[in-house]
Amino acid sequence: MLLIGPGGVGKTAFAEQLAALLLCESAAANSNACGKCDPCRWLAAGNHPDFRRVAPDDDAEAEPGTSEKSAEKGKKRSAGIIRIDQIRELESFVFVGSHRNGNRVVLLTEADAMNQAAANALLKILEEPPASVYFILIATRSKSLLPTIRSRCRVVSFGAPDAAAASDWLLNAGLEKQAKRYLGLAGGAPMRVAQWKEQGQLAPIDALVDSLISPPADPGLLAAKWDALLKGDGLFRMENLVEGVQRWLFDLTQERMAGELRFHTGWPRPKGIENLDPKALLSAWRDLNQFRRSARHPLNQLLFLESLAAHYLRALRPVAA
Ligand SMILES: [Zn+2]
Repeated sequence: MLLIGPGGVGKTAFAEQLAALLLCESAAANSNACGKCDPCRWLAAGNHPDFRRVAPDDDAEAEPGTSEKSAEKGKKRSAGIIRIDQIRELESFVFVGSHRNGNRVVLLTEADAMNQAAANALLKILEEPPASVYFILIATRSKSLLPTIRSRCRVVSFGAPDAAAASDWLLNAGLEKQAKRYLGLAGGAPMRVAQWKEQGQLAPIDALVDSLISPPADPGLLAAKWDALLKGDGLFRMENLVEGVQRWLFDLTQERMAGELRFHTGWPRPKGIENLDPKALLSAWRDLNQFRRSARHPLNQLLFLESLAAHYLRALRPVAA
């Protein structure tokens, strides 16, 4: 099965529940995995012998089931890629019998991160699928998957839920009512908003927007505000900040030219938008691509931020009368 869709709409949660159901030994008909039997508990603990999770090595989040990887650190790694040896390790798993009820499950959480060699190795396995082994592949970009792999899968498309369902989900997940304002920034994906909350990103996002709504006139002061956000407790990095500024500029441009917002629906709007110069906004938005390219490794963080702040403030100059 291949689950395709944008991030944050529940593909991984769905895949994990499906895997649990396939491995559970006391699930009632038409229900989810029981969560209590031995296999369910092994799966939750990340040591079910009939389950394999394959993800790129430098996955920022340590997932249960991937702890065995740390044992082989020191090997050369390619960033963000599923390598052929990760797929080859599956061969011994899928072609040997199961330990328990017969079902085995392989979950590839970022199937579009396989390099060519890994994809070909997986294709070989999929061409002669061993009995009772279930492959669940997750991808956000279907184009980067081999068509031959796609054609061997049952494809299930995931889209972002409608706005009402998404904000209901946020409420149920324990977020405050106002949290729906983050949905625009998250591309409509509620689970991404929940993830931001977990990672302590919501407060810096709020503070960033505040600083953009009413920035100090001095780029040095604005840069110092941003610098403090990057040094906070949340997982808020330079690339998040630059992206945030760029999206803000995008919305200012859109609002000025078409009266529409894409990312910041439900946020307070700055005063005097009608005086801003759409051309200056547009070109500042475009120039931010250069900042994005070097955001991960700026030579000097504070200088980088000052330059970004100066850039932003210049874009806000009113149209010359
Ligand atoms: Zn169970």
